[in-house]
Amino acid sequence: MSNITFTMVKPDAVGNGYTGKIIDQIISAGFTIKAMKYLHLSAEQAGRFYDIHRERSFFKDLVAFMSSGPIVAAVLEKDNAVADFRTLIGATDPQKAEAGTIRQLYAKSIDANAMHGSDSDENAKIEASFFFSALEIF
Ligand code: ATP
Ligand code: MG
Repeated sequence: MSNITFTMVKPDAVGNGYTGKIIDQIISAGFTIKAMKYLHLSAEQAGRFYDIHRERSFFKDLVAFMSSGPIVAAVLEKDNAVADFRTLIGATDPQKAEAGTIRQLYAKSIDANAMHGSDSDENAKIEASFFFSALEIF
């Protein structure tokens, strides 16, 4: 698989009822859904997903937030998927996100920032296989 990225609609955006609008914006931007599921991560699973941030000061809060409610996980395909998706979601801190980006529209703070997007092709593959088996990606 190439040209894929992995995303999650995070618990704040799901809880605020933005899932449908966000998925619509993603499809309108030219991404194809290759896999999707709705699930509630345990703290252990959220910690494993964000293992790279384990030593950071915000790790505990990040894990608590990501396991605080259900999420929508998805694999998306598009040319230049990783970079184009990070442009679509906007900066990590929604106060710094460009107008019209998903985080600017739907996120309140750097902790509760509505969306995840992979940061490299390699991590997109690792993250997609964290959530989906080969049988679940179409
Ligand atoms: P994500 O990986 O969730 O898509 P990102 O790649 O934009 O976000 P990362 O640096 O990977 O940002 O950080 C992962 C998450 O950790 C961020 O989405 C944010 O919620 C949280 N985070 C990052 N930096 C900070 C910070 N300085 N203070 C508080 N939370 C932070
Ligand atoms: Mg990241």
